[in-house]
Amino acid sequence: MSKIHELSSVLADQIAAGEVIERPASVVKELVENALDAHATQIDVMVAEAGIQSIRVIDDGDGIADDDVLIAFKRHATSKITSRADLFRVQSLGFRGEALPSIASVADVVLNTSNGTTGTSIHYRGGKLLKQAPAPLRKGTDISVTDLFFNTPARLKYLKSAQTELANILDIVNRLALSYPGVAFRLVHNHKELLKTAGRGDLQQVIAGIYGVQNARKMVAITGESADYQVTGYVALPELTRASRQYISLLINGRFIKNQQLTKAVIKGYGSKLMVGRYPIAVVAIHMDPLLVDVNVHPTKQEVRLSKEPELAKLISTTITERLANVNLIPSALTNL
Ligand code: ADP
Ligand code: MG
Repeated sequence: MSKIHELSSVLADQIAAGEVIERPASVVKELVENALDAHATQIDVMVAEAGIQSIRVIDDGDGIADDDVLIAFKRHATSKITSRADLFRVQSLGFRGEALPSIASVADVVLNTSNGTTGTSIHYRGGKLLKQAPAPLRKGTDISVTDLFFNTPARLKYLKSAQTELANILDIVNRLALSYPGVAFRLVHNHKELLKTAGRGDLQQVIAGIYGVQNARKMVAITGESADYQVTGYVALPELTRASRQYISLLINGRFIKNQQLTKAVIKGYGSKLMVGRYPIAVVAIHMDPLLVDVNVHPTKQEVRLSKEPELAKLISTTITERLANVNLIPSALTNL
């Protein structure tokens, strides 16, 4: 008898979930990214007990047609790319078709969605479809995730304190809000509002909402350009520092990323203006041809590979250095806050 067999799709989804869905904040990230890809203008995130009890994301985006809903929960099923060429010029935040099946395999998921023509409600638990029924035609998607990791006890046990998990969720939503100033975000935890942005496309206002108006006033606009890259954003004056690098946000074509070299480039831009162990608050938005960046490096898509990283690093540090040298010449753009 053959010893080798294909894993069931439920088991395969659970294995994939191990990479994509590490903690409650990963669920929030994936669901909000789906809402953004669906052109939502308003995204409400409601969590209870740091997301361990429940996570609900409501958007006013495109919704999913009734005959697409089941497919959306299949692994590697996506509406965002079709060809190999698309993979190399990904414009959307998602493209791997892994989030919904992964989440549904390790939690209880109820999704209500409407594209304006059809409305569907669907209920999955531990990868099993429990119910599908018609739902009202309120355009957009409303998804609730409860009992996260109920069937993966090790993952549940590995979760940190509620405080840490909530800090991770807040960090993710903050960065998504910084990436999309044109979208109105609301984050509510145990009925308490933690973040609200207006969605008017004004990055300064989003920064003020996250870091406080006083701090936002101590940040200046930057803009720079090289052959392949454009850099815009806001950086703190040297007097406004933090004890950690985590207040440096890097965005590539609207996706927030983690990249040590580029983070170092931001710090380098300050030269000797920073005290040892102190780091700036900065939001650096990079725009570039998607062909120059490979986002398909890791399932969470936060690591990317750049073809001309040294050029970009140099652009970032010189843009910041030059801007800070001119601080007294150009008044802060934030005086209107
Ligand atoms: P991916 O985002 O990589 O395509 P997902 O598993 O996250 O994969 O979602 C699968 C598909 O379900 C998406 O491609 C999209 O068509 C649809 N979808 C998921 N969430 C939403 C949403 N909030 N609004 C509209 N469509 C959605
Ligand atoms: Mg997705």
